[in-house]
Amino acid sequence: MTTLVVKDLHKAFGGKPALRGVSFEGSSGQVLALLGPNGAGKTTTLRCIAGLLVPDSGEISLLTDGDGARPARGAVAFLPEEPDLYAGLTVEEHLRFIALAYRLRDWRPRAAALIDRFQLSGVTDTLPSDLSQGQRRKVAITMALLHGAHVVILDEPFNGLDPKAVRELRSVIRDLAASGVLVVLSTHRLEETEVLADRIAVTHQGRIVAEGTLGELRDAVRLAGDATLESVFLTLTEAPDEQGAAEQGADEQGAGE
Ligand code: ATP
Repeated sequence: MTTLVVKDLHKAFGGKPALRGVSFEGSSGQVLALLGPNGAGKTTTLRCIAGLLVPDSGEISLLTDGDGARPARGAVAFLPEEPDLYAGLTVEEHLRFIALAYRLRDWRPRAAALIDRFQLSGVTDTLPSDLSQGQRRKVAITMALLHGAHVVILDEPFNGLDPKAVRELRSVIRDLAASGVLVVLSTHRLEETEVLADRIAVTHQGRIVAEGTLGELRDAVRLAGDATLESVFLTLTEAPDEQGAAEQGADEQGAGE
């Protein structure tokens, strides 16, 4: 069992806060969705977890049964909205590259199983430029799984995909979680979140304003048991940001002294 613990992340760009105390946890086998409007801090949070950005403060750790806390970097695969594949390498060559880079032994049967599972067998000799966006994402996920990432991070994975590719990707994500991987994804799409996520962290103005199952979120905002995620989300993200206003007021007061 692997648990990702994100504690009190703060990050500012040019003095402007993007993250203002982001905390959440997720465990093996879960799909955790960071759901929030544009600019809420989702990508910044994911890039910090992946080690691509250094937070100003806060902690990120991966707790694995038996060996305590260690940095999240390494066991985590990050897939940006548009995965970076190598223009000159075919799908098969991408997998060979991962096997070499991670010094994997006996990787071919595993690669063949992954290619089969993600329906890439017809495109193993194809270059990224000739793949669809959905196929490029699947190649990136296959690379992550080949090297055995415990945590797969997907930034806005459904953006730009057609309905068929969305359906396929949903099933890939479900399969990933069923195989014991923790999937952390960012999205502003309510439908996919409602269908896929075991836990939802509603992100707003650099904070997680509520976190839990849909039922727990409904309870948190005191909405009826049949309230949609949309009404829960709007209630949470339209509420005045009292803590933010208080912090701003304190800053202004400090500046005036
Ligand atoms: P979206 O859904 O639009 O992708 P998001 O929730 O992923 O939004 P972030 O991309 O994390 O939000 O951005 C949070 C805030 O930080 C925004 O105000 C954004 O402009 C700012 N920001 C993010 N990255 C940078 C950067 N490299 N330099 C300056 N500001 C940044």
